[in-house]
Amino acid sequence: MSSLCSCRSCGSARLHPFLDLGLQPLANNLLRPGDPFDQEPRFPLIVAVCQDCWLVQITETVPPVTLFEEYLYFSSFSDAMLRHAKAAVEHHIPECELDAGSFVVEIASNDGYLLKNFVAADIPCLGVEPARNIAVVAEQAGVPTFCGFFGERTAGQLRAEHGPADLILGNNVFAHAPDINDFIAGMAVLLKEDGRVVVEFPYLGNFIDHLEFDTVYHEHVFYFSVTALRPAFERHGLEIFDAEKVDIHGGSLRLSAGRAGRHAVAPRLTALVEDENAARMTTLPYYENFARRVEVLKTRLQELLGKLKEEGKTIAAYGASAKGSTLLNYFGIGRETLDFVVDRSTYKQGRLTPGTHLSIEAPEKLLERRPDFTLLLTWNFAAEILRQQEAYTEAGGRFIIPLPEPRIV
Ligand SMILES: [Zn+2]
Repeated sequence: MSSLCSCRSCGSARLHPFLDLGLQPLANNLLRPGDPFDQEPRFPLIVAVCQDCWLVQITETVPPVTLFEEYLYFSSFSDAMLRHAKAAVEHHIPECELDAGSFVVEIASNDGYLLKNFVAADIPCLGVEPARNIAVVAEQAGVPTFCGFFGERTAGQLRAEHGPADLILGNNVFAHAPDINDFIAGMAVLLKEDGRVVVEFPYLGNFIDHLEFDTVYHEHVFYFSVTALRPAFERHGLEIFDAEKVDIHGGSLRLSAGRAGRHAVAPRLTALVEDENAARMTTLPYYENFARRVEVLKTRLQELLGKLKEEGKTIAAYGASAKGSTLLNYFGIGRETLDFVVDRSTYKQGRLTPGTHLSIEAPEKLLERRPDFTLLLTWNFAAEILRQQEAYTEAGGRFIIPLPEPRIV
């Protein structure tokens, strides 16, 4: 682990920390019953903004090996993500005129949840996935997968072996790669002359507006705006030519880039940059107000849960997710308040949440044990989860959605 003293993108020393979430365990490091709790590693979790390029970033780098050795997040467990991936592929094929002679690369391809749609359409593709256990699952599903981290060196190897890529995709990985310059340089190396890079990531504007502080964890290094990304792409000969807001993960941006001057700049990109200026994203108060609102939320949620406990209510939680870990650990909500947490992933069931050590059960436990309230930690999938849990709510159970304002549904 190392502490940052200069901006990961532009190198400026003018980093301004604005949100300190304290010492946090690794948000995806689920424990097993019987693990020695006192040896659970904790690292500072502080968010800063660069006052030169205005890139928002966390100040600690935890070595990726610690993070990805056995990554427990399997994309295919979310119906919403599967639908989103399929729709994205159906959009890309005509848009980029892809056929059997094309080549598509997805960085952080996970279990092949997205690329399997290209495989089905007979479009040659390759996944790049650092977690070995997940890469194996993808290969078994028929999705060719290179096991490793993406960067300039990997990109050179892939280009030598497979040729340049018509389309490079990166969904929810770009914000997780600490060496942003190596990552963008890699995309520039691998890209065909008129090819496209399409990356999706949670958008800074949504992060701030909707108070999504719980999306901060050690793996999630950056919170991107177009304003901050433009100079980073330009540094490597690439140009952002389009950006579209997509409604996933609490509000994301789908950003398209290519070699400078090769693609027409979309009017909606220009409009988005104007919106960012109007929101004053290049001023410190924009970030400092956010930190103040997080403190207010902390008090409100603690008061609500405290009141329910005083009334003798039972409370569980839904979603043993990374964001759940940040929220529970920062707000100091643990076993004194929550009886257990449920999660659909069979890989997580039977384990314990990081820092708070709640036991992770199957969602059926909600119906079995009927807690009066369930704190919805995976609020980004609220609609889907509420639909799946109708039997629980019909039996009188209530969900608490924690942010941007705690509310009972
Ligand atoms: Zn900077």
